Amino acid sequence: MPSAERRPLVAANWKMHKTVREAEEFLDRFVGEIGDLGGVEVVVCPPFTALAAAVERTRRSPVRVAAQNVHEQDSGAFTGEVSIPMLRELGVAGAIVGHSERRALFGETDEALARKVPALLDAGLEPILCVGETEAERDGGETEAVLRRQVEADLAGVDPPHLAELVVAYEPIWAIGTGRTASPQQAQEAIAFIRALLADRDSSAAAAVRILYGGSVKPDNAAELFAERDIDGGLVGGASLDPDDFLAICEAARP
Ligand code: PEP
Repeated sequence: MPSAERRPLVAANWKMHKTVREAEEFLDRFVGEIGDLGGVEVVVCPPFTALAAAVERTRRSPVRVAAQNVHEQDSGAFTGEVSIPMLRELGVAGAIVGHSERRALFGETDEALARKVPALLDAGLEPILCVGETEAERDGGETEAVLRRQVEADLAGVDPPHLAELVVAYEPIWAIGTGRTASPQQAQEAIAFIRALLADRDSSAAAAVRILYGGSVKPDNAAELFAERDIDGGLVGGASLDPDDFLAICEAARP
């Protein structure tokens, strides 16, 4: 069971799914059914086009809305990008950064993440930083080296005490969208390692920072993952597209 000082958090990564109307339908149903989750924080990350509607539809609920990406500059000649002030104006609470799909398919680099994470924190937005190894890296015994490289590079620009304000998601790439979930022990080991890396920089921030597991979290495996000592909740892709499945996963994170 995770530490009482860290509030459990479950975040939905909708990726490139749901039009505005579909997002509204999901949220009207989900918000209507969510009830009292006993202290579990819930974040929904729709595509940019549905952010405004999602903020509007969750306004009188405990659900917060975050983006799936952001650019670190406030404005400029960056065709196709969206800035932090643009997200803030909508009432968006944070952004996923460093998702493996953005790293692999859209060239998001550790250098860019080292700028994005402090920019989000400076603006009072919550970064959800994703890190994780490929299957070949795990098979080659490189998991810890990969996590160390990503955590050190991506968070280099964050003042140590501010590490407590972000969220890290450990997402082994071999488990994302594959139906192959990491075992609770594999996830716990990797997440404890990430927490230890952060403790090298600030031990009280490391004890307070939320670290999520992501990778084929489903209603039937969420509870055993979330019961692990260092796992503070989940970042959920596929199973977050269905309101009943996502609600069941949020319920599984109750302390
Ligand atoms: C994700 O994309 O962050 C993710 C964890 O996806 P899935 O739950 O579908 O594996």
